[in-house]
Amino acid sequence: MEILPGIHHVRFPLAPGVWGAFYVLTGRRPAVIDTGKPDTPSQFLFPYLRKLGLPLKAIVLIVTTHRHLDHAGGNASVRKIVPIPIAAHRVEAPFLEDPWREVEEVRFRYPDDHPYRGLDRAQIMTKLLTSVPVDIQLEDGDEVELGDRRWQIVHSPGHCSGIICLFDSRTGTLLASDSFQAGGTADGIAIYDDLQAYMQSLDRIQALGPQKLIVAHPFRPFYKPLFQGEEVAEFLAACRHFPSEYDRELIEILREQHRPRSLGWITDVMRVLHSCYGPRFLTVVTLRTHLDRLTAIGILRQESFGGHLAWMHT
Ligand SMILES: [Zn+2]
Ligand SMILES: [Zn+2]
Repeated sequence: MEILPGIHHVRFPLAPGVWGAFYVLTGRRPAVIDTGKPDTPSQFLFPYLRKLGLPLKAIVLIVTTHRHLDHAGGNASVRKIVPIPIAAHRVEAPFLEDPWREVEEVRFRYPDDHPYRGLDRAQIMTKLLTSVPVDIQLEDGDEVELGDRRWQIVHSPGHCSGIICLFDSRTGTLLASDSFQAGGTADGIAIYDDLQAYMQSLDRIQALGPQKLIVAHPFRPFYKPLFQGEEVAEFLAACRHFPSEYDRELIEILREQHRPRSLGWITDVMRVLHSCYGPRFLTVVTLRTHLDRLTAIGILRQESFGGHLAWMHT
């Protein structure tokens, strides 16, 4: 649907009760922001462009907001048909060009809890993006003309290290993708692998003063794609509120324990508390950055317990 003039927000099903979305910008320089999962172009993007009467070869650029499979997953299938250039942030480009890097990073950071345990290389490959070259590496502050608007690239790390927003300062419109998550989707909690960066990105966006903000998933408690006027402040306040709730809950859970608890154990307790039914690893990612921060400020202590990392209240 055309959610704002020249900005089409196209949803596709991701999980029970959860949609993903990509954006199509129409006008003088038509563009696609994200391509969804590997099957999203054939099922949703191409049919949508046909409905608009916009040939695929008219698309001047694909901007990939970040490396996740529900945003960059369709790049390879589009490129198989038309060699549209792909742009992504400099930090994100190596992960798009060599998806195995993500596997290595994840195995290193979450040794006991990563989702590739027990899988061989071939099995892991089926779960990854197909490698796609990034033709244009974006930097924070770059400007790109897409649709009929001039967009500023805003690097907004936190959800992952190279995620970007696109900001049209003339109308105060921010395409936020997954950068800010309020309480996360119905099947999980907010997802970010770097809490400090996430909070700094929130500060940064708040200072830009967006008047309209468009997200890529239905985040609780709002469950809607577009925030306008005062709703923007409400959404950004919720994005600040939930991390402080998770901190509070983690402290409470660990205070009652008399021995160190592993990330896996803590994850299971939090998933029950928040009725999470989505991928377990996504919860692991958020909780790990909270545990690291609570440890850094001396509220928790990190220990080795049975050869695994564990945390306890100090
Ligand atoms: Zn994401
Ligand atoms: Zn996403």
